[in-house]
Amino acid sequence: MTAPPPGVAILGAGPVGLDAALACADAGLECTVYEAGTAVGAHVAQWGHVRMFTPWSMNASPRMRAHLPGLPDDDRCPTGDELTERLLVPLAGSAALAGRVRLGHRVRAVARRGLLKHEEIGSAARASAPFRLLIDGPDGEQLRQAATVLDCTGTYGNPNRLGDGGIPALGEATVEGHITRTLPRTEDPDRWQGTVLLVGAGKSAQTAARQLARLPRTRLDWVVRDPAPDWGEVPGDVLPGRQALVDSARLFVSGGNQRVVVHTGTTVQALDRDGRRVRVRLASPAGDARLTVDHIVGLTGYVGDDGLYRQLQVHECYATAAPMNLSAALLGAGAADCLAQPAVGVDTLRSPEPNFFVLGAKSYGRLDNFLLRVGYEQVSQVGALVAEAAGA
Ligand SMILES: Cc1cc2nc3c(=O)[nH]c(=O)nc-3n(C[C@H](O)[C@H](O)[C@H](O)COP(=O)(O)OP(=O)(O)OC[C@H]3O[C@@H](n4cnc5c(N)ncnc54)[C@H](O)[C@@H]3O)c2cc1C
Repeated sequence: MTAPPPGVAILGAGPVGLDAALACADAGLECTVYEAGTAVGAHVAQWGHVRMFTPWSMNASPRMRAHLPGLPDDDRCPTGDELTERLLVPLAGSAALAGRVRLGHRVRAVARRGLLKHEEIGSAARASAPFRLLIDGPDGEQLRQAATVLDCTGTYGNPNRLGDGGIPALGEATVEGHITRTLPRTEDPDRWQGTVLLVGAGKSAQTAARQLARLPRTRLDWVVRDPAPDWGEVPGDVLPGRQALVDSARLFVSGGNQRVVVHTGTTVQALDRDGRRVRVRLASPAGDARLTVDHIVGLTGYVGDDGLYRQLQVHECYATAAPMNLSAALLGAGAADCLAQPAVGVDTLRSPEPNFFVLGAKSYGRLDNFLLRVGYEQVSQVGALVAEAAGA
């Protein structure tokens, strides 16, 4: 068996992928970042108009600050676009990352050279075979190798479906063109004129409801599965932006805005086209209801793409789809408030596949309490392991 090539492949140039690249650069490791989008922070750009609920002081790692002196470090909360402009773009252009970020490179699959998923279980031979990466780049498909892979591809590219139980509603695929699956931009009120069906109850749905409710020619039908949602309220919340979302959701439920109807305890059963509009069948214990809407905003959560590592021995939790050890630690800690998460330790980031790590938002699977500062801590822990293994 030949020795694996040196080098770390980092998948995704979001905040965590770029932080991982800095950690490698600081340790003198060879690394390449493969980013599917045409710019760094391609997922953040999709919610760039939204103001974050964590302040600048929590949104950059010490590593990032060392490379970008003058970065804000106060209690102002940036928008996603501000995070990109002040942090992600300057980092990608910094001397430390020069020539290391490949834009427009979507990693399709990762495997071990010469080995299938079920072969060489837990053996040293597995660890010494290099990773093979199949990549769609600007010049077509290409293969690359690496000794270590850090999967920082996030979740925002893989939205969940709208139907009961998380599978597609009947006919959902036929109305895909009517569905917005990211936080809507509402600067142009005419774009959202008419009736909007909003599905979901998390922070993204709460944000969308608040924005859409401000538009004078928009009526909102908001479908929420839970009959009595608590909207994820954190008692005595120290993040005012988060509490404000809960307060407005409650106001809508109580009928405080005549253009908003909240259908609690309700699921989407079927969708089908009616000319330029969409007919919707809803179900609740009170029976079925029918609506016709002009737009659909589906914000039912996201989960990372596990197809990327189908041929690897990554042990995922059957419930959360996060890597097993991390999932068990997070479920065991049971912190409802993302700010109250305990440190879980580097061993939770290991999986049976040697030298392959899922980091960042993707590492939380279906759990929705990921914070950037957790991702940066993961990078510090795994970065130290990788550097030690490489003898750096
Ligand atoms: C609306 C919204 C608001 C949020 N607000 C906060 C907040 O206030 N504070 C906080 O701490 N967290 C917040 N988060 C959560 C989290 O911090 C962000 O989702 C953050 O962007 C996660 O960073 P990441 O680097 O892990 O992943 P991402 O930012 O999702 O980056 C992943 C990158 O990988 C790329 N990619 C995807 N697939 C591939 C592939 N196959 N090959 C190559 N590249 C690929 C994507 O294009 C993307 O650039 C928020 C999330 C959302 C959605």
